[in-house]
Amino acid sequence: MTFDLLLSGGELVFPNAGVRTGSIAVRDGRIAALLAPGEQARARRTVDCRGKWVMPGLIDPHTHIGFGSNETDFLTESRSAAVGGVTGLLTFHRSNDLRQSTGPWRERGERQSLIDFGFHFGVTSRLHVETLPECAREFGVTSVKVYLMYKGAPGAAKGFTEIDDGLLYAAMLQAARIPNGVVGVHCENVEVIPVFREPLKAAGRNDLTAWDEQSPGFLEAENVFRVVYFGEKAECPVNIVHMSSAESLDIVRRARKPGRAPIHVETCAHYLALTSRSPIGFLGKVNPPLRSQGDVEALWEGIRDGAVTTVGSDHVPRKRETKGPDIWKASAGFPGIGVLLPILIHEGVHKRGLPIERIAAVTSANVADLYAITGKGRIAVGMDADFVVVDPDREVLIDAATQESFSDYSPYEGMRFKGAPVCTILRGCTLAVDGIVHPEARAAPSGRYLHRR
Ligand SMILES: [Zn+2]
Repeated sequence: MTFDLLLSGGELVFPNAGVRTGSIAVRDGRIAALLAPGEQARARRTVDCRGKWVMPGLIDPHTHIGFGSNETDFLTESRSAAVGGVTGLLTFHRSNDLRQSTGPWRERGERQSLIDFGFHFGVTSRLHVETLPECAREFGVTSVKVYLMYKGAPGAAKGFTEIDDGLLYAAMLQAARIPNGVVGVHCENVEVIPVFREPLKAAGRNDLTAWDEQSPGFLEAENVFRVVYFGEKAECPVNIVHMSSAESLDIVRRARKPGRAPIHVETCAHYLALTSRSPIGFLGKVNPPLRSQGDVEALWEGIRDGAVTTVGSDHVPRKRETKGPDIWKASAGFPGIGVLLPILIHEGVHKRGLPIERIAAVTSANVADLYAITGKGRIAVGMDADFVVVDPDREVLIDAATQESFSDYSPYEGMRFKGAPVCTILRGCTLAVDGIVHPEARAAPSGRYLHRR
């Protein structure tokens, strides 16, 4: 029998389980066989993976496609993802009426995306809550996000007038009835922030550390407490997205118990690699803010022991010109999907000694499990042939010009990370090699919509 593709003699990474030397045979876009060392197979094409890790392609659970250019983000940001070893993403979709907007947005992704993609719904109104079951069914979306930092005046400035604790709780009651439903929440107590912010502004502060001081970690933790408490009462699985602080993780650890609805934790690469004292100025402005080294270490400990469920990029592909003129007016968020994996390998495996199978778990298998993405996230017969082949020892120098993103900067510009994706494969087809998008993938994007149940 001849296979379509053979990934030959690699160190196969099984999320949460371990690493084993072997080969992977692919047919019709799926994993057809796993071969032990020495077992032979014929294939039309062979990729020599000796000395390399072969991981499931990453699924980035947190991206903001459309925040750069609505017209072209699916194209450019999926290229950036492919270069970084990411073969799937979930992006937040938000509009006044999700019933009208979701179909056209999905069609744009199907035309443009090089990688598979799915949606989380942004819930900001009573209409969203009421129409959630029908939208979940029709569009295959099982996850929503509620933005507690857009309560009151900050929300009104963005056009949201209905965000309050009642909306949060009502969303939980609805999501609890949806199969695999989960409510993600942006936790930051926006009502207390001005108490810190106004004196900092009055003192003329204009630095990245001030952004942390205006919304300290305990304001996240306070919201986390409310969310996990409501989640227990509503019997709804909840997810603390982009968790930034040690105190927040502590609260989750204490609140988890057998019999209650699950509490998931997502953190992001920047909370694992940067602090409020990193010398990157306004480029490092993000919500929630970058924290201290102690917070960084607590989140890594959470990845090591399983307290953290998933890790994403919170990719926001805006231009450098929006990151100013001062810390108060600069836009929040930055690009990151293309550097997610090198950062996690460098900081997690090389610097802190985490096993690579833990990195694979939080970026593939756990994402697939949490968001009901079937057939992906693991190396096993029958699964989609989505892989990233990684050279553990090769360094990447971060240069925004090579990231393929709409964005023209990186908060990691000039930094070096050890652990480079050398080949990205989606359903057996090559998307990128050595940091370059494959010409065929560039010419004919083949990403599919992840309809979830
Ligand atoms: Zn958020």
